[in-house]
Amino acid sequence: MARRSKPLDRYEEKRDFGRTPEPAPGAVRAASSARFVVHRHDARNLHFDLRLEIGGVLCSWAIPKGFSYDPRDKRLAVRTEDHPIEYLTFDGVIPPGEYGAGMMTIWDAGEVEPVDAAYYGAAGLELGEIKVVLRGRRLRGEWHLVRTSRGPEGRGAQGAGDDAQRHWLAFKSKDRYAGPKRDSAWGVSLEGAPRKALPRSLRAMTARDEGEPFDDVEWLFEMEFAGRRAFAEWHGGKARVRGMRRCPQSVADGLSTLRAESALLDGVLVALDEHGRPDAALLAEQLTARGANDDVVFYAFDVVHLDGFDLRGLPLTVRKAALRTLVVGEAGVMFVDHVIGEGVALAEAVSGAGLRGMIAKRAASAYRAGVSEDWLRVPVEPSRDATRPIVAPTSMRASAITNPDKVLFPVDGITKRELIAYYEDVADVLVPYLAERPVHMLRYPDGIEAEGFYQHKAPDSPPDWLDTIAIPRSSREGEVVHAVCNSRRALVYLVNLGSIDLHPWLSRIQHLDAPDLALFDLDPKGAPMSDVVTIARVLGEELRAVGLRPCVKTSGKTGLHIVVPVAPITGSDVRLDFDQVRMFCEAVARRVCRLLPDIATVERQVSQRGGRVYVDVQQIRRGQTIVPPYIVRPVLGASVSTPLHWDEVVTDLDPARYTRDVVRARLAEHGDLFASVLDNPQDLVPAIAAFDQRLRGA
Ligand code: MN
Repeated sequence: MARRSKPLDRYEEKRDFGRTPEPAPGAVRAASSARFVVHRHDARNLHFDLRLEIGGVLCSWAIPKGFSYDPRDKRLAVRTEDHPIEYLTFDGVIPPGEYGAGMMTIWDAGEVEPVDAAYYGAAGLELGEIKVVLRGRRLRGEWHLVRTSRGPEGRGAQGAGDDAQRHWLAFKSKDRYAGPKRDSAWGVSLEGAPRKALPRSLRAMTARDEGEPFDDVEWLFEMEFAGRRAFAEWHGGKARVRGMRRCPQSVADGLSTLRAESALLDGVLVALDEHGRPDAALLAEQLTARGANDDVVFYAFDVVHLDGFDLRGLPLTVRKAALRTLVVGEAGVMFVDHVIGEGVALAEAVSGAGLRGMIAKRAASAYRAGVSEDWLRVPVEPSRDATRPIVAPTSMRASAITNPDKVLFPVDGITKRELIAYYEDVADVLVPYLAERPVHMLRYPDGIEAEGFYQHKAPDSPPDWLDTIAIPRSSREGEVVHAVCNSRRALVYLVNLGSIDLHPWLSRIQHLDAPDLALFDLDPKGAPMSDVVTIARVLGEELRAVGLRPCVKTSGKTGLHIVVPVAPITGSDVRLDFDQVRMFCEAVARRVCRLLPDIATVERQVSQRGGRVYVDVQQIRRGQTIVPPYIVRPVLGASVSTPLHWDEVVTDLDPARYTRDVVRARLAEHGDLFASVLDNPQDLVPAIAAFDQRLRGA
């Protein structure tokens, strides 16, 4: 006779609590208030585990693609075994070989509020429909889970049997938080912000005066709008401007559209004249007028409190990222944008727009009451014929282009102006792959059909805003000053010199001897693309089999690049050096060549390759470089090194079709497919151990 199943049987069956650090199940307890946790589970396939407190256990769903605030994105959520309540605070590494091996980190946690008893608890599970309001640091508002096949949930739903019974969809309900695709309510996590009540009284942070505009990447710069400084509050469905008896209707309307139930914004009330310029007299008139005052706009430049979290201790850049998403920007509340690092260029734009100043703010600074060294007011002389419109700083085109009509790709007819326009469009995604690394240039000042030349050193007498690093030569005396491309402005400057593509090191300036990227370069030299694809897929499988999550992109020429971002050894700052990373990659490359001896080789000499694809790991060396994603290559067709989904790595893959326009469209559709290279560096040490075992087992 079958033993009667207890709620956590499935959980217990799958685990050996002598080996995994996960909690053994304790007593099943009913709780008065429900909680939730989302684990980011870096297992063989990265996924997000949503766990809701129901009936004294954590009902769990694995969501491979994570969450989206776009209600149209209905994400597969696979019901997995219930977990014990103790799992709410579990955070750790499940060792290789154990069930669910990999890093489990808490991605979000908070309270759950059922929307209706019929759609929660045993009733909701039975019905196959759960509706909850989540109150976390990333997940806010109402979420909806629906089982794809109706009918009572069997034991299959607990992880045994029938797949269809386990498949649910998770999606955002339409509410004030819904909107463009993103995985967190405000685009960033509020991790580190304490829960606090809305402060009743608050003193504003203010700037001290400073003379000249300056450039500094640790600072951001905002236009200064003349008007009345104020805190605007949205709380309990009510809008108000602190210190004013009546909130201007336009501002109240704007506050009611915020992506929050409660927010306290710092900013300036401004009245704009018919040219869209701030007008102090008009403001005074508007604030005293009864009735309509539609011309008053609240320009928000900071958020100090948000949905029960006190944000004052978070870095300004995090507060502004949250503010940008929070402010919908259609009505009487507008977001004050900024530029990072480029104060001199913004001063010119401010002057041209007829404004009188800008505010420089230290990017990492907390919000502190009173006069602060972290905020500086920089007065600007308005230019006499202030005819330029007030533009958002991020749309500023700062650098001058020389010879913009120079044709760099004669057959394709692409000019320098068009190339730079592309780089300006993709700068936000491209610059992070260049930043903090010495960069080598391959310059084609007269276009790709003329002679090009490599240049390792920064241009002579570079502008003072261009970051550089002096690195001692390995072979002889002296040092080489390399450019470091840390900004859109630097990117445009370097491309303007005729560098069509840029080649950053595999290590960063903070630790030049330790790579944070591992690169497998599949170089066909005449071998068919179908062979490159076969090798890429096998190599991808090998890396995944030892717990890594490789990314793949076209090289922009004929090959493919497989990249694994390398983290310091878990729990330390210790990094593997180039030799250690290369030796591991070489072992993997050799194994792939043994599996595919007819098409893959680690032979460097072209004459010895016998028409096979070269699996090259020799660039994993100090001073060698990588082609970053989104870079245009100096080849016929001006193809771009383009990140791919693994399921796009198929036999009819054609790297030449990835042109600038295709890349722009893909970025709009998929976002940055290489983002995990920046966000999720991986510890190679467990992978090296697992690969050793795999070799011995094979
Ligand atoms: Mn999981």
